[in-house]
Amino acid sequence: ITTPLASLRTGAPETAAAPETFDTRELQRLDSAHYLHPFTDHAALRARGARVIVRGDGIYLWDSEGKRIIDGMAGLWCVNVGYGRASIADAVHAQLLQLPFYNSFFNTTNVPALRLAALLAELSPGAAFQHVFFTGSGSEANDTVLRMVRRYWQLAGQPQRDILIGRRNGYHGSTVAAASLGGMAGMHAQGGLPIPGIHHIGQPSYAEGGRGMSEAAFGLAAAGWLEDKILELGPERVAAFIGEPVQGAGGVIIPPATYWPEIRRICDKYGILLVSDEVICGFGRLGRWFGCELMGFQPDLIAFAKGVTSGYVPLGGVLVGARVAQLLAEQGGEFQHGFTYSGHPAACAAALENIRILRAEGLVERVAQETGPYLKACFAALATHPLVGHAETCGLAAALTLVRGKGAGVHDCAPFAPQQAVGMLCRKHMFENGIIMRAVGERMIVAPPLSITTAQIDEMAERIRACLDLTLDEVT
Ligand code: PLP
Repeated sequence: ITTPLASLRTGAPETAAAPETFDTRELQRLDSAHYLHPFTDHAALRARGARVIVRGDGIYLWDSEGKRIIDGMAGLWCVNVGYGRASIADAVHAQLLQLPFYNSFFNTTNVPALRLAALLAELSPGAAFQHVFFTGSGSEANDTVLRMVRRYWQLAGQPQRDILIGRRNGYHGSTVAAASLGGMAGMHAQGGLPIPGIHHIGQPSYAEGGRGMSEAAFGLAAAGWLEDKILELGPERVAAFIGEPVQGAGGVIIPPATYWPEIRRICDKYGILLVSDEVICGFGRLGRWFGCELMGFQPDLIAFAKGVTSGYVPLGGVLVGARVAQLLAEQGGEFQHGFTYSGHPAACAAALENIRILRAEGLVERVAQETGPYLKACFAALATHPLVGHAETCGLAAALTLVRGKGAGVHDCAPFAPQQAVGMLCRKHMFENGIIMRAVGERMIVAPPLSITTAQIDEMAERIRACLDLTLDEVT
C-alpha cells in the first residue's frame, strides 16, 4: 500500500540550487548549545538536531540540506499570503529608511499606524469596530483584552465585574494573562495558572461531548455551559467571555452552527462582553475577513495578530467596538496601558502591503469559493483511508482524526491509546517526506497559506495519503 514518495507529482523542484551552502551540523550544534526554543523538549531536540529552515517561496520551504517541504501550516497559521513576497519586503525596507521607529505615546503618531487603523476599521465586521489598539503579538493582544475589559467595567461603574471566562483547550497565548485565559492544562500546570479571576467552561467539540445528540442540539448545550458558569459565579461579577471562532491550537475544533449565536444571546442576557480571538481565524483563514462573520456573531472586541502581516513582521492588536470605545476612548481619560512597539511603523507598513495583496488577489474570497471547498473534498477523500476516522474542514483549516478502527459516525470509531503516540509518528513521516502537518493528539492538522492553488492542494493530499500509508504500516 505504500506509495513511493519519489513518484508523487510535484509542483516545484524537490531541491533548489541553494543560494548559500550551510553547514547543518555546525548550525545544529550552535542551536542546541544556546537556543531555547518555544514549546520544545530540549533533550529530544538535542538527540535529533533541529531542522534548519533557510528559505521560503509560496507554500514551500527549504531546509539547510536543500530539501523542499510543503508548509501545510503556513508557519504557525500565519503566512497567509505565502512566502517570498518581495513587495512586503520592499514596503518594510522603505519604511525603515523613512522612519524605523517612533512611539505612539504622548500625543504622537505615525503614518503607517494611523492608515492601518483606518483600514482595519473599514474591514472590520460590519465596519462596527472603529478603533484599534496595536500590540506586538497575539498574546499581548489578549493581555490587552483583559486590561481593557476590566477598565471598561470600572468606567461603567461596575468594578466588581472582573471575571473573564475562557474555555478548556482554548489557546490565547503564552503570557501570564493569555495563558490563563487559555485552557491548556499543561501550561496551567507549569505556571501556577490561571491567575485569579479567570474561569473556564468546556469546549464545543461534538466528537468529544456530543454522543447521542444532533450537532445542533450539542451546540446549544455547549453554549449553555456558559450560562451555567455565569449563574454559578454570579452574573454581576462576570465581565467577559473569550473564545476562538474555530479553536486552532486545540486541534481545529469547529463548533456546530448553533453555538456562537447562542453564546451571543447569553452574553447579551447578562450584559457580558464577548471577545472573539481571531489571531488564527482573522484575515481570511475561514473564507471571511474575520471568523465571527462565518460563525454568525458580532463580538464586542476582536483580538488579532498573525495573518495581519502574514507573519513577515510581528504585529497584533485589538479591534474595539462601539460599546467599549465609547467609554474607553471617549470618556475614560488615560488608559494606562501600552507597549513600546504598539503601532510600530515597519510592522504597520508590512500589514498595509499584506492586506493590499489579500485584496488584490481576492485570497479571502478564493478560500470561500475555491480552495476551501476543494480542500474539504480532498480531506473527505482522505477520510476513506483505513487510518482516518473522520475529516473536518473550515475554510483553509482542516483536521484528520487517526483511529484504530473506523466507525459509521464520529462517536463510533475506536481510538488509539494516547501512549502509542500515533499522531507524533504520523507527523514524523510527514516531516521526513516533505510536508509539515501539526499533530494535536491523534488529530492531524493543516492550515496552508491562503495563496495555495488547487493543484498544490492535490500535491499536499497525495503526500498526506502516502504518509498515512507509512504510518499504517507501522501501527498494524
Ligand atoms: N490566540 C490564538 C487563537 C492563537 O492561536 C495564538 C497563537 O498561536 C495566540 C493567541 C498567541 O499569539 P502569539 O503567539 O502571537 O503571542
